[in-house]
Amino acid sequence: MGRRIQRASNYLLGEQKPMRIRTSQFLLAAMLMLACIGVLYFMRMVGIQGMGDVDAWALVCIAGLVVFYVLIRSGFSLRMADPSLAFLQMLFAIACNAAAFIVAGHGLGVTLPILSVVLMFGMFGLSMRQVVLVAVYALVLFGAAAAYTLRYVSTDESPELFLAYFFILFIVLSATTFLTWRLQQMSAHMRKQKNQLVEALDQIQIIATRDELTGLVNRRFMLEKMREEVQRAQRSSSPLLLAMLDIDHFKRINDKYGHQVGDRALQVFSAVVQNNLRANDTLARWGGEEFVALLTGTDVSVGQICLERVRAKVADIEVPVGDDCVKMTVSIGVTPYRNGEAIEKALQRADAALYDAKARGRNQIVCTPAAEYL
Ligand code: GH3
Ligand code: MG
Ligand code: MG
Repeated sequence: MGRRIQRASNYLLGEQKPMRIRTSQFLLAAMLMLACIGVLYFMRMVGIQGMGDVDAWALVCIAGLVVFYVLIRSGFSLRMADPSLAFLQMLFAIACNAAAFIVAGHGLGVTLPILSVVLMFGMFGLSMRQVVLVAVYALVLFGAAAAYTLRYVSTDESPELFLAYFFILFIVLSATTFLTWRLQQMSAHMRKQKNQLVEALDQIQIIATRDELTGLVNRRFMLEKMREEVQRAQRSSSPLLLAMLDIDHFKRINDKYGHQVGDRALQVFSAVVQNNLRANDTLARWGGEEFVALLTGTDVSVGQICLERVRAKVADIEVPVGDDCVKMTVSIGVTPYRNGEAIEKALQRADAALYDAKARGRNQIVCTPAAEYL
């Protein structure tokens, strides 16, 4: 049963969401139009005087609705600038409404509140320019309908009452135009606020995940990234390599040249290391002058070649300070990630390897032998 309803609804409204929005909006407007047709039939039934050919009018209205439905549901309207055909539907509804003014005889007053409803609907879907166009169009159409009624349809209504109707129409149209303007101002304001929020969120994201001095990702981001990469490596059983890098005797640089030069040296070091890793590898500032690199899809032998290049490039760094220049070297501890182990354990091993590299005289790479992690 549920599935049958689902199928019928897919057939009637369409399956894709944008199409369903368009068709359901149309059906809502169509139901309003049908309700208005019902009201006119009610008026005829209770014997309102002076009514015209309600059947012909209703037929034209319904034929128009069918045409709109076919245009939208068939996808033909996708060729138009606005596939929901909101503006055209609006023009048609107002034309039907103005015709109802002629057909309704003594009951013509009912068409004005109906017009308000039609306009209310349009406020949300139309541009400001379209709303003004609709207002002028409605004024002209209702003016013509009133003139036609006074001239050709014998009602006992006085021209003064028509003038009063015209004033009401003018008030309704001005109010709608004003409200549309306010609504669009508000939505522009909200759009702007939303964009500002998105920007602020991006900014927060950067602050939360990046190191300010070097622009590298921070420890928090790296730990998150490691967990992701560990899962991926396990799924694809591709090797993962961890390296811990620590600048040698960095304290001496600070002591000799000052903290600012130390900062500059950290920035240059970060850029050099980053540029000598592959795009898929991640380099993080772990803290102070200590860094961690995560090399994906890399086994120990390939990783060592890559890191040896990094080590050599760091040894070539020269940061000019006046006539002098800062030079530095780096010690690196490397270890492969062993499937299933906690990432912290691999980090500890890399740290121990780094400690070894320092103990062996710095400016070198030490890799934890496989036996030590089995
Ligand atoms: P080792 O070869 O054993 O690693 O010696 P080291 O001097 O590099 O190591 P140590 O841990 O003794 O000193 C690290 C220094 O790094 C101390 C600290 O002031 C400095 N440092 C840490 N973070 C920063 C920073 O952001 N900017 C600057 N300029 N210095 C920093
Ligand atoms: Mg150091
Ligand atoms: Mg250190």
